[in-house]
Amino acid sequence: MIKSWAEPFKIKMVEPIRMTTHQQREVAIEGAGYNTFLLRSDDVYIDLLTDSGTSAMSDYQWAGLMVGDEAYAGSRSFYHLVDAVREVYGYEELVPTHQGRGAEHILSQILIKPGDYIPGNMYFTTTRFHQEHAGGKFVDVIIDEAFDPEDQHPFKGNVDLDKLSALIDEVGSEQIPYISVETNVNMAGGQPLSMANLRATSELCHKHGILVMLDATRALENAWFIKQREGGYEDKSVAEIVREICSYSDGATVSSKKDNLVNIGGFLALRDPKLAEKARALLVAFEGLHTYGGMSGRDMEALARGIEEMVASDDHVRARVGQVEYLGNRLLKAGIPLVQPIGGHGVFIDAMTILPHIPQDEFPAQALAAELYLASGVRGMERGIVSAGRDPATGDHHYPKLELVRLAIPRRVYTQAHMDVVAESVLEVHENRESVGGLRFTYEPESLRFFQARFEPITNRP
Ligand SMILES: *Cc1c(COP(=O)(O)O)cnc(C)c1O
Repeated sequence: MIKSWAEPFKIKMVEPIRMTTHQQREVAIEGAGYNTFLLRSDDVYIDLLTDSGTSAMSDYQWAGLMVGDEAYAGSRSFYHLVDAVREVYGYEELVPTHQGRGAEHILSQILIKPGDYIPGNMYFTTTRFHQEHAGGKFVDVIIDEAFDPEDQHPFKGNVDLDKLSALIDEVGSEQIPYISVETNVNMAGGQPLSMANLRATSELCHKHGILVMLDATRALENAWFIKQREGGYEDKSVAEIVREICSYSDGATVSSKKDNLVNIGGFLALRDPKLAEKARALLVAFEGLHTYGGMSGRDMEALARGIEEMVASDDHVRARVGQVEYLGNRLLKAGIPLVQPIGGHGVFIDAMTILPHIPQDEFPAQALAAELYLASGVRGMERGIVSAGRDPATGDHHYPKLELVRLAIPRRVYTQAHMDVVAESVLEVHENRESVGGLRFTYEPESLRFFQARFEPITNRP
């Protein structure tokens, strides 16, 4: 039997990418203030900045763009999307939005009143923003193992039921409209939660009259890990597992720019028609009419097809996660410190361990990301002190426990040979790690500073 997996597709169209010289990259990274967000994509060879909205669509999805129905109301493509969401996720009510944060906005506005608490298994930037914007307070109830990069727990995305019970006891269930449960937790490094944990979380919440809302953005990748790691699921299809995940919830927000294989889009899905009515009332004001939300007809058509395609067989997700694991395992074998287990959407390099000579306030992960770009044109993203920002009260940096460079892998975009080049580049930078120095700000924006901050190398160190 053949043990290797390969992509369940062949390539029909190609998009050229530019290889650059070291000298060109020096000019580019200096021009970008040593911030990979400020690079032009034309100067990037292999772009691992994010897996959001960067997937390659299939020929069937591209064909869908041509037959998308652009009717303002009652679009055929909307009804195709409704059918796809019912079939794959199992929710009756669909509220389409322009992307995931649009769905988070509407959900937060219809359910949260000022002073409420919203527990969740680690925060996500836009999710927490909308909860707070509606007057709620996010409370992290993820298990402690999620914060240890070397802990091998197979389900680091699990909800800590003791933390959740303690919160319910402390503030009372009437102050907790819902729990926000994220599948394959992004900020923990793409780590799944188990079906048993989700089932128990759902039982506890429903006993107290608390709704369970999934962030099902990465439910497919989570389903794959359940199939690999949780007893009783090895013979189920990922399609069956995704359905079961959703069965424990009352609704979900989804950013379709991830699992769903499109470049833009998202939705809020619900079971309760009354709640859906409230959502639709806001939708008209903030996104669009209830049969298109924030999307064009062709976007909805490509999305409906992407949702069907992602679970049509297990081969897609096997190759998607397999490619991430291929890169991660190559790096681990060569002694590169990574967040483990390797996650579903990318590898997270531990910059603090690689660059112990750079103090955290000289931005080791930022420096490592810039160095990796310089070495080979590979673009990753800082996930450390720069992303964490400052404490508004004291004005000092937040000092997160981890300084990471994230290499997020777009779906169906790069080949194994690209992954080999990425691995070689990381190894080269690792070999020369002692020559990598720290950075200092030349421009620091007030909020969400990681997007637009500029830096320069600290050359005259004592
Ligand atoms: C990307 C993402 C979001 C936000 O979705 P957008 O489509 O970028 O607005 C929310 N939650 C998770 C887990 C995500 O990965």
